[in-house]
Amino acid sequence: MADNQTLGTGAANPEIVVIGAGPAGLTAAFQLGKRGVACTVLEADSVVGGISRTAERDGWRFDIGGHRFFTKVAAVEAVWHEILSDDDFLTRPRMSRIYYKGKFFDYPLKAFNALAGLGIFEALLCVSSYLWARLRPPKDQSTFEGWVAARFGYRLYRIFFKTYTEKVWGVPTSEIKADWAAQRIKNLSLFSAVANAILPSRNRKDITSLIEEFQYPKYGPGMMWERCRELVEAVGTKVIMEAAVTNVHLEGDRAVAVTADTHGGATTYRCDHVISSMPITALVRAMDPPAPPEVLAAAAGLRYRDFLTVALVVPEEDGFPDNWIYVHSPEVRLGRIQNFGSWSPYLVKEGRTCLGLEYFAFESDDLWSLPDDELVALGKRELGELGLVDPSRVEAGYVVRMPKAYPMYDDGYRQNLAVLRSWLEEHAPNVHPVGRNGMHKYNNQDHSMYTAMLSVENIFGASHDTWTVNVEAQYHEEKS
Ligand SMILES: Cc1cc2nc3c(=O)[nH]c(=O)nc-3n(C[C@H](O)[C@H](O)[C@H](O)COP(=O)(O)OP(=O)(O)OC[C@H]3O[C@@H](n4cnc5c(N)ncnc54)[C@H](O)[C@@H]3O)c2cc1C
Repeated sequence: MADNQTLGTGAANPEIVVIGAGPAGLTAAFQLGKRGVACTVLEADSVVGGISRTAERDGWRFDIGGHRFFTKVAAVEAVWHEILSDDDFLTRPRMSRIYYKGKFFDYPLKAFNALAGLGIFEALLCVSSYLWARLRPPKDQSTFEGWVAARFGYRLYRIFFKTYTEKVWGVPTSEIKADWAAQRIKNLSLFSAVANAILPSRNRKDITSLIEEFQYPKYGPGMMWERCRELVEAVGTKVIMEAAVTNVHLEGDRAVAVTADTHGGATTYRCDHVISSMPITALVRAMDPPAPPEVLAAAAGLRYRDFLTVALVVPEEDGFPDNWIYVHSPEVRLGRIQNFGSWSPYLVKEGRTCLGLEYFAFESDDLWSLPDDELVALGKRELGELGLVDPSRVEAGYVVRMPKAYPMYDDGYRQNLAVLRSWLEEHAPNVHPVGRNGMHKYNNQDHSMYTAMLSVENIFGASHDTWTVNVEAQYHEEKS
């Protein structure tokens, strides 16, 4: 164990260290608090909320990606409303469109809207391509390309899915697993899009991308987690900021302590259990003594995509009614534009709105390390090139970077993840991975929260298999 200061958590038994003060970590602390257990939360950053934070610059508030609060899991919904009062929530209409070749298309795709927007000739080609895909479905539907082409035909796939998806992931869609499509597009196909255009809206609820209204905390998603922090601290939990976990110390087959780098140097916290929402790759690398080479190799094989927002302040009339617009045009690097004023008037200032231009990158890319003023200039230029906003209307610009925003579902991810998971289960069974990067699961907050809630129950004797949590079906299995 590191030669440094060693602290007990000061909590009632059991001593629990929670890594990360995002939705998963703070939900774990919140649920522990309800059981009368104060714990220690170690957070590497200086703000809570993780990816679901509200970033703030000069009084402007930005949401990293735009967080709709929607869940089928009643227990998660209940926790949201235990943390925030009803007055803190807005009910927002959802509006989003695709911008392609100077035209707007409804998103989620509506068959008639899409085909009408493309023009009769292109529409006929798309329908033939769809019928062809029905007759001769792509052989390999385990990739994003095959999965989507089977449901929409190759032509619509190329127009409405390929470019944006490649911007998001930075690799060809043939290298992306269908899991991502299955999670994002769910049950949608050209056939169901036609059906949805005809059927009454109450029949549409099963298709996640069609959710038409959502809840939203007035001051953005971070409001939920800032309040949650106050509530857990009120029951004695310590939320220690700027404390990056570097080591998880094992004795026998149990974690006995966690070390974090804090301002005062390294501090070690004894523990009976660890609930970890830090990236599972970093968790495994933090093990002391170290995990064997094949496990470290599996950790090195898991990849992430990073994300940055260029937020541009413009007069309100230069905004648009959408919450966000997907930009499929291949000639610009930006992938999506949020209008934060459409999410909540409390994020912006009187008479102004703020457009969040979203860029996807790897930390090793030129884009990621461009200075902020150059990114702002790029954003303004691209808005102008698209013909969406005159760059001279932009009054101020800010950049918010979010590393590891997306765990990648590439070819090797399942196998690599299985290696990490089984090693942890065997050698550190009292370390409970939760949440998005914690479990390398492309998820929404509800999944992160629910896995944290079930992990807390497991610590107190339940035997939920958190890896089978499926918030879409609100389903989870007991371990046999
Ligand atoms: C573009 C985009 C749009 C999204 N839209 C939605 C949406 O509409 N609705 C929705 O519900 N969800 C949405 N999400 C998903 C949501 O952001 C995540 O599911 C959620 O934030 C995951 O919570 P988490 O606690 O598991 O992880 P995170 O939010 O990643 O939090 C993990 C925390 O752990 C900390 N940490 C990491 N390493 C260490 C370390 N070594 N030591 C200490 N702390 C550490 C991090 O700093 C972070 O605070 C979106 C995500 C993205 C990227």
